[in-house]
Amino acid sequence: MKEILILRNGRVLDPGASLDAVKDIWIRDGIIVNPGKGMPESAEIVDVSGCWVVPGLIDMHVHLRDPGEEYKETIESGCRAAAAGGFTGVACMPNTNPVNDNGSVTRYICEEAQKAGFAHVYPVGAISQGSRGDKLAEYGEMKAAGAVAFTDDGLPVHDSQLMRRAMEYSLSHGSLIMSHAEESSLSRGGCMNEGETATRLGLQGIPNAAESIMVYRDIVLAELTGARVHISHVSTAESIELIRQGKARGVGVTAESAPHYFMLTEEAVTGYDTHAKMNPPLRSQKDLEAVRHALTDGTLDAIATDHAPHSVLEKDVEFNYAANGIVGLETALSLGLSLVREEVISPLRLVELMSTSPARILAVSGGSLAVGSPADITVIDPDKKFVFDAQKSFSKSANSPFSGWKLQGRAVLTLLGGKVTHRELSAP
Ligand SMILES: [Zn+2]
Repeated sequence: MKEILILRNGRVLDPGASLDAVKDIWIRDGIIVNPGKGMPESAEIVDVSGCWVVPGLIDMHVHLRDPGEEYKETIESGCRAAAAGGFTGVACMPNTNPVNDNGSVTRYICEEAQKAGFAHVYPVGAISQGSRGDKLAEYGEMKAAGAVAFTDDGLPVHDSQLMRRAMEYSLSHGSLIMSHAEESSLSRGGCMNEGETATRLGLQGIPNAAESIMVYRDIVLAELTGARVHISHVSTAESIELIRQGKARGVGVTAESAPHYFMLTEEAVTGYDTHAKMNPPLRSQKDLEAVRHALTDGTLDAIATDHAPHSVLEKDVEFNYAANGIVGLETALSLGLSLVREEVISPLRLVELMSTSPARILAVSGGSLAVGSPADITVIDPDKKFVFDAQKSFSKSANSPFSGWKLQGRAVLTLLGGKVTHRELSAP
C-alpha cells in the first residue's frame, strides 16, 4: 500500500459537519488526514468524480445467524455482503443458537468478525437469559466482551416488570435497550398485515396495535426509568405518532425503520410470495407514507435493514409456515437513494440516517469524515444502474423481495480503516 491514499474530486457528504462539497479526502495509515501541500511521492490516487464520498454506512439491525445457523449466513458472509452494500459496521442481533446472552458468545462473534475483516461487528446482547423473557442476562459480562446494546429481538419482552428492570440495569452499564415491539397475544397466528388484502387472501392478519401498544409501553418505561430505548423496525403510523410525542416530551427514545417499510406495502403479499413475509409485516399505503414522512422530520433516526437470511428450506413453503424476514444489506443503499431521487430526503439526510445517527445511537466510532477519524468510508455512484440478483449476492441466502428489481445507485468502493473491503471502481 502506498503511503497516502487520495480520493480525488468526490462529492463529500458529511452530515456531522453539514458538509456537501466537491473535494479530496486524504488517508494515511487508515486515518483521514488534512490534505497536504503538493502531491506526495507515493500516493495512490483514486478518481471518484461523479461519486459521493460518505462516512461508512452503519446498519444497526442485522441477523448474522452465526453461531448456530451457518447454512443461512456466517459472520464472514454477512460481513462480506455488508461491505458490498457499502456498510463498514453492523450491529448483530442475539437470536443465534446459542443465544448471545453471555460473554463467551459475544467474544466468539467479535473474534470471527475480526478474522473476516470486512466490517466492524457490534454484538447486541440478549435482554433476558436465552431470550426466554424471565431472568435478566449478564450485561456487564457481555459489555466487557464487546456488546453495545441489549435486546431480545425476534421476540418481544412480555413482562413489563422485566423490561423495567432491564432499562434500570442498562442505565448502570451506560447501554442502550432495543425494543422488538410486539404484543404477541394480538399478533399470534397472524402472518401478514390485518386488512382487506389479508381477508382477500384468506390469511390471518396482525393489527397495527400489536406494534404500537408495545411501543407505547416501552416509551412509558423509558420515561419512568430515564433509560434510553431504541424502537426497532417501526412499521406503523401509530407507532410513529407515539415516538413523535415521546420525543417532544424529552423521553430518551430513538427509532429505526427498514427499506421494505418505505418501499413495499401489504400488496406485495398478493400471490403468496413468502419473500414478502416479515415481522412486523408489510403494512398499508398510509403506513408507508407515515414512515417516509418520519424519515424527513426526524421522528425516525435511522434506516436499518433487519437483514434476516433464510434458506429456501424456510421460505419455499406455504405462506403460513414460512419464516419471517428478508436479506437487505446489498439493496438498502439503492432503495434509500430512490428516496433521494424522489426528493423525499436530501443526500445529507440519507447519510445521516444510514451512518451518522446509527453511530451516535450505538455510541460507536464512525459516522464522520472529520480529520483524525478512522477511514471508514463509502464511495457511492448514485447513477449506476443494475438489476439486483439475490442469487448472486454475497449473502449465503437469497430471500429478497427486491430480486430482479432495476435499481439505481450503489457502493463502488468501501474502505474499512483505509483498507479496501469492496471495490467496483477500476484500479487507477
Ligand atoms: Zn425484531
